[in-house]
Amino acid sequence: MLAKRGWINITVLEQRATADYYEPDKSFNYQIDGRGQKFTDFLGLTDKLSEISVPSTEFLLTQIKPDGSSKTSKLPTVNPNRKTAYWLPRRAFVLLLYQEIEQNWQDRITVLFNAKCVQINKKVINNSKQENLEVFVHTENGSVVTFKPYLLVGCDGLHSIVRNTLKEWDKPTSDKFEMKLFPSHSSCLRYKVLTLPPNFPLVSSGNEHAVSTVAYAIRGALRGRKRSVSLGILPLKNPDEPRSANIIKYPDHQIWELKNSEELYNFLENAFPQLPIRQIVSPEEAERFAKSEGGYFPIPQYCSGLHFLLIPEQACLEIPQSSSAGIVLLGDAIHCFPPDIGQGVNSALEDVYILNEALSQSNDELSRSLPLYESLRLPDTKALVYLAQTAYPWQYNQNSLGRLVWYVNFFLRLLLSRLLPFIFNPPAFFLIQNHQLSYQQIWVMVQRTTKTLYILGTILLFGLLALVLKASQNYVLFM
Ligand SMILES: Cc1cc2nc3c(=O)[nH]c(=O)nc-3n(C[C@H](O)[C@H](O)[C@H](O)COP(=O)(O)OP(=O)(O)OC[C@H]3O[C@@H](n4cnc5c(N)ncnc54)[C@H](O)[C@@H]3O)c2cc1C
Repeated sequence: MLAKRGWINITVLEQRATADYYEPDKSFNYQIDGRGQKFTDFLGLTDKLSEISVPSTEFLLTQIKPDGSSKTSKLPTVNPNRKTAYWLPRRAFVLLLYQEIEQNWQDRITVLFNAKCVQINKKVINNSKQENLEVFVHTENGSVVTFKPYLLVGCDGLHSIVRNTLKEWDKPTSDKFEMKLFPSHSSCLRYKVLTLPPNFPLVSSGNEHAVSTVAYAIRGALRGRKRSVSLGILPLKNPDEPRSANIIKYPDHQIWELKNSEELYNFLENAFPQLPIRQIVSPEEAERFAKSEGGYFPIPQYCSGLHFLLIPEQACLEIPQSSSAGIVLLGDAIHCFPPDIGQGVNSALEDVYILNEALSQSNDELSRSLPLYESLRLPDTKALVYLAQTAYPWQYNQNSLGRLVWYVNFFLRLLLSRLLPFIFNPPAFFLIQNHQLSYQQIWVMVQRTTKTLYILGTILLFGLLALVLKASQNYVLFM
């Protein structure tokens, strides 16, 4: 985005070894929806994205029960006016962006792999009040290289060193770079990803094989909170790419206690009698899975500081504000949550899109554009985290009662929004898919419906009480 705006000398620091570096426990599939496509449209990349993805309009889901019976259904299209979304693995998406740099922006962007940012300083320039930035980077050959950027973009994920540095710098005056936590019913669930071969056999006879573009929900036979398990497999365009099955459970589930490949094989064979487990999970993969720590879904969280300018306005009036160096934060570095609503990547891409708008509106002057970006994006950031907390946290079969209550609420809102659309809004999960609505607008709509439901509920309750009271009076009179 910066290169397209005409910026030059852009350096991307990435601690991983390559753009398509494969991490089994991070082999997520993303759905790039209309919100994320604001960014791919801006770069003219949406056609290329569609070529390497499975479109949401062709999303087929096959459910396989423990007895081997299966049913394939097409996911109903919630809103025919909605932009087609595209499913692809994280690795393929990152590679798409990297190839774009290689092909079109090499003269402006240098990407350094195996380059880990280890320290960020602000330094007063000799005999002036002006400060500049110093970024220290550990490189592949063990040396430390220093950069002095005019703009530092912190899109380095949940454990962002950029945000943590700002937190330290800002500590005496505020806590705006501190993440504020909003626990949800899916936060702290543990996950691991089991890698399966492409087109793996679905039955022991080996006659039926998985199709890459089809999603699978393979139900297990074991029952009970600590034993029940199912495999969720998302679709892929590339038929030669391994499939990843997500296992998501409470931290005290039995599957996390399995110590080696044999224990895993025994557990999976009991859990999935319909699958030829030893044919589809290689001994190496079984061992890797058993030894892997996996990960935990993060608690929904955000921070309210999205930028930092090095020269406070009043401290250096003689220096034009346009020369202030600045730091801006994007993506998981400022908002992070479990994958329930599929917005991690889409919101990160929308952050970039909004930053572009802020730069456009202020002639690329950091002293104006970074505060503008923060004021445009912070209300959405907060709303996004509240939505992540409530929109669909019960989808991982954690608890039947919680799931039931959530579904009643969901279908009630859906039904009422269809019957009385001028009073009730559809559930948040549906509204999020409308990329023309901001997260803030969606949150306001959801809250409004919640209020209306409370008022209606209270009226109904009092009406019911009045009826009961009247009936009991009649009963006394009758006696
Ligand atoms: C289990 C799970 C499933 C998910 N599923 C989905 C989903 O289905 N849909 C969805 O939209 N989102 C999903 N997400 C969320 C999504 O992955 C993130 O929201 C998204 O990756 C955020 O992008 P980012 O660029 O801000 O951060 P990241 O993707 O974390 O990227 C940060 C990058 O910075 C690099 N880096 C970090 N520190 C340094 C350093 N000091 N020096 C150099 N480089 C550094 C990292 O190596 C990394 O490449 C999921 C997340 C999890 C945990």
